[in-house]
Amino acid sequence: MGEGRFSASTHSPAVERAMSTPSIEADRRLYHLVVATIASFCLVVISGQLKTMAGEIVAVWIADGYLLGHLMAVPRRSKPFILAGGVIGNLAANLMGDESLYVSLSFTAGGMVEVCAAAWLLPWVRSSKELINPKTFLRFVFAAGALAPLISGLAAVLLLQGVFTTHPFSSFSNWVISASLGLVIFTPVTLNIVSGEWRSLLEPGNRIKSLALLGLVGCVTALIFVQTTQSVLYWALPPLALLAFHAELSTVLLGILLFISIAVPLTVRGMGPLWLTPFSDMQQRILALQVFTVAALSVALPITVMQVQRNRLVGLVLDGHRRFRQLAEHSDEVIIQLASNGEFQYVSPRVRHILGHEPHELVGCQLERMVHEDDWWRVKQAMTVATTEHMEESVEYRLRRRDQSFIWVRSFIAAMPAEPTDEHAAMAFTVRDINAHVLSEHRRSAEEEQLKQLAYVDSLTGLGNRRYFDAEFKAYFQPAPGTAAAPEMAVLYIDVDFFKKYNDIYGHPAGDECLKTVGNNIKRAIREADLLARYGGEEFIVALSGCSYTVAVEAAERIRANIEGLAVAHEGSPLGALTLSIGVAHTSEAETINPSELLELADSALYEAKRLGRNQVFHRRTLEAT
Ligand code: GH3
Ligand code: MG
Ligand code: MG
Repeated sequence: MGEGRFSASTHSPAVERAMSTPSIEADRRLYHLVVATIASFCLVVISGQLKTMAGEIVAVWIADGYLLGHLMAVPRRSKPFILAGGVIGNLAANLMGDESLYVSLSFTAGGMVEVCAAAWLLPWVRSSKELINPKTFLRFVFAAGALAPLISGLAAVLLLQGVFTTHPFSSFSNWVISASLGLVIFTPVTLNIVSGEWRSLLEPGNRIKSLALLGLVGCVTALIFVQTTQSVLYWALPPLALLAFHAELSTVLLGILLFISIAVPLTVRGMGPLWLTPFSDMQQRILALQVFTVAALSVALPITVMQVQRNRLVGLVLDGHRRFRQLAEHSDEVIIQLASNGEFQYVSPRVRHILGHEPHELVGCQLERMVHEDDWWRVKQAMTVATTEHMEESVEYRLRRRDQSFIWVRSFIAAMPAEPTDEHAAMAFTVRDINAHVLSEHRRSAEEEQLKQLAYVDSLTGLGNRRYFDAEFKAYFQPAPGTAAAPEMAVLYIDVDFFKKYNDIYGHPAGDECLKTVGNNIKRAIREADLLARYGGEEFIVALSGCSYTVAVEAAERIRANIEGLAVAHEGSPLGALTLSIGVAHTSEAETINPSELLELADSALYEAKRLGRNQVFHRRTLEAT
């Protein structure tokens, strides 16, 4: 066992990682340097070969497109190594091609200027996926397709004055177009390869489709360029457009490359439609081919960019749809989508538990048919609020179950974006079962009502008791909404005369009956809105709100006369019949007096009525009548 292996196994994984990270980093940089050197060298040699084939004219310069793609794909710290590799590879290939040191250095400098300018304009792009974003892609086309080739072309023409065999302008235009094609085609292909995205091309579905489409491009291009009789260059476009619709960016660029690889050698060998036009020399012919390739790229690339965007959006929509279904199906609330005409469009499966329906049974049903008729107005109102105020609205109502029974539910309703032409918006509902809660709430309020009854009702006469009167009487003193002052009012304090004796003579049960008769009589003599209570043993009290002094005295007199008119025999009374004494207290400005003061005033009036001989009404008022 070697020492290194032994010592490595004694360190913890974290320490090992810490120790190995710098060396891995260094290895990676070295790897980039070597790859960039070899690749640049090979691609410059290949580009040079193509140039020689075409008679010293470059159709497309591959090397710089590769270098730019590799440079963009790696982290910042590795970039200098890629550039160094590019410089070494370029220089070596040029020197090997028997160029002088100056020419080699000039070519290399032109290439590096081009790559650095394009990379500087797109610092954030690291994969062809990032490149395919429409805005980024436009920037890329501007940087790699125009600006960088123009700058490098200028640099090259200045450095190589007198070296180029052709006219400086045609050298310049050839440099610019071949560099532009090379960058636009090879940069995304390299990005795709270095970032590992190319693997998606090998996915079963993609592979067959891409290969078939590339095959089609190859065949059509070959057919166009093996003949010299028909001017059918434009037929190269349909298969490229088809490829653009169905394949990813790199495959589309491979298709363009395939087109060039077939078109250039065949044209150079004297075949293809470009020989039908009387071009002055090969350079003109290659230029025409380049211009055609640029046109083909301008057709294919926007299509691909749009398609990729579209596929991404479709993916997002499908993903959102799947996520919604998953959430909807696992929620303990039913989720309902209601069309603008009130029909169920989607009902989540939870509806089985709540309503007993299968979701599909409800699709197409009208919501109104499912809602209890007494509750429909509430649901409608909530939907209107949700639509007009664009806010979520909640409503409690009853929904019909499959067995026709009703269940209480609570819904949150939100309007969904509708077509501008729709009169009603579509709605999203959540439905929660609150049946148990509502029923127990109803039971509780019924019990509360019952307790209130017990607490406020006098069991003998069925009238309100003293507690009831005291609670309600206070409210009489509150001014009605919208009015400044409390109304004028009167209190009638009513007491049965010689009732003790009545009990003594006729017995307690007869006394009870007598109290019931008196209570009913008083009730009949006053208005529904007046407040009546049995205030004590044989004492009753009436409060008359909004009532003038005269009316109050008249009411008291009416009550007294009614009982006298009954002529209930009372042998214990010097009057021979059952009679009442009534004390009336009136105030025309209730805000000047409090409830107990008015009661006291009525009590003192009653005392006076008794003192003055009973069976009579005595009245007092807080202010002199105006
Ligand atoms: P006055 O004319 O001065 O009012 O004489 P009165 O006998 O009515 O005087 P008092 O207020 O002292 O008597 C009230 C009587 O009412 C006493 C009680 O026997 C009787 N009473 C009180 N509550 C009830 C009841 O619920 N049923 C019956 N039958 N009698 C009751
Ligand atoms: Mg009494
Ligand atoms: Mg009495």
